[in-house]
Amino acid sequence: MMWGYLMTSAQPYRLAQGCTSRPAIWADVPDEQWDDWRWQLSHRVSTVEELRQFLHLTPDEVAGLQAHAKFRVDITPYFAALIDPDDPTCPVRQQVVPRARELEGFDAMMRDSLGEEQHSPVPGLVHRYPDRVLMLVTTQCASYCRYCTRSRIVGDPGATFSRRQHDAQIDYIARTPQVRDVLLSGGDPLTLPARVLEDLLRRLRAIEHVEVIRIGSRVPVFLPQRITAELVAMLRQFHPLWLNLHVNHPKEVTPELARACARLADGGIPLGNQSVLLAGVNDHPDTIKALCHALVKMRVRPYYLYQCDLVAGSGHFRTSLAAGLEIMEALRGHTSGYAVPTYVVDAPGGGGKIPVMPNYLISMSQDHVVLRNFEGYITSYAQPADYQRPKRTRWVPEPAHEAGQRGVAGLLRGERLTIKPDGWDESHERKPSAVPAGQSSVDTPAEDAIRNDNGQYPLPGVQVAPPGDTPAWVRVH
Ligand code: SF4
Repeated sequence: MMWGYLMTSAQPYRLAQGCTSRPAIWADVPDEQWDDWRWQLSHRVSTVEELRQFLHLTPDEVAGLQAHAKFRVDITPYFAALIDPDDPTCPVRQQVVPRARELEGFDAMMRDSLGEEQHSPVPGLVHRYPDRVLMLVTTQCASYCRYCTRSRIVGDPGATFSRRQHDAQIDYIARTPQVRDVLLSGGDPLTLPARVLEDLLRRLRAIEHVEVIRIGSRVPVFLPQRITAELVAMLRQFHPLWLNLHVNHPKEVTPELARACARLADGGIPLGNQSVLLAGVNDHPDTIKALCHALVKMRVRPYYLYQCDLVAGSGHFRTSLAAGLEIMEALRGHTSGYAVPTYVVDAPGGGGKIPVMPNYLISMSQDHVVLRNFEGYITSYAQPADYQRPKRTRWVPEPAHEAGQRGVAGLLRGERLTIKPDGWDESHERKPSAVPAGQSSVDTPAEDAIRNDNGQYPLPGVQVAPPGDTPAWVRVH
């Protein structure tokens, strides 16, 4: 049977029928209503009284639900039906049922940990990377994750993005030709009325330099009933269109989610998944491996495994980076490469995604690189003695660069000599009296090391300034 890989016989699901079984309170709901996404949205549960009808709530959960300052609670009946009613450690339950401890702050907590607001040229549009933008199109979701990175803006039904703000977002994209990739997110774009979403997609697709449109959505997980044939027919008009899901635990992989993914994949929409590493939910190598296998069987490529962000509500979900690295060690080589996501830390302060992985490179000489594999087998790869770095020919496309974003790749290409933190020059300026007799004020061991035999810097565009011009002795053109 198709679903046997993710469930044990102890779990209360009627898998043979291909649907999730319902708690008694919804047992009499006609199938047509249960399968109607509008019914699901309008019957979401959020209060102690509603949840008590099918869950044995702990005092911690009751306190979380009754707290005034909490992030919005709303759970679709479908997703609520996945919750183990008796076990507060249920991985589905922990993601959507608040606990009092989520109100506790922690030392590193930040309001906008990804620095989205500082990269926002118009409201709701985040232009962090050179060639792509994040377009926040709504503040609403089908259900609400307790660790939400954007809890500062998500969930308020009275404060979502207006048509005028969508216009400003699209106008910015239209007049910014380096933007070739637009990611629609929020909130959840698939909670928008179909005509609003279609209008946004049509206007984006009309912009010549927008090559790819992506949607980030948890609707297939919280509300798979929304993935109707009509919705997919609408979406597929706008190819190339990609969709990234957000599944965290194999328990969320149900027949309903599988049908939604099949419908999307059959509509030609490439599917990816991002998971957030959550303590007590999915922070075990075998959990993530089972999830990745389940995803790949649904034609969903595991894309990112995120380190939990430093946002309010997430303190008790945070793991060490060591936990993530141990998971990656258990995946790479132990299963198919396309079942292995990239583990990333979304850099606090707006630095963007930083991939982290175990180290497979042990050492290297001019001729050999020493590597280890997932089993601990150590090998050496002989480097070619005659390899030349590639030259620009007419077969090499011209890159589109944005000032200041060439990074370490720019150093490797010889476009500049250093990348310095703000104030570095000032804090390292040496007074002439501090220079030992006989030593040039511009020479340091590191600088000497890269000079060629003629005492010149071999990097293109880098010149030595006349003596006395310290510290701006390096000119980068
Ligand atoms: S679906 Fe996404 S935006 Fe919505 S609450 Fe969950 S993490 Fe936040």
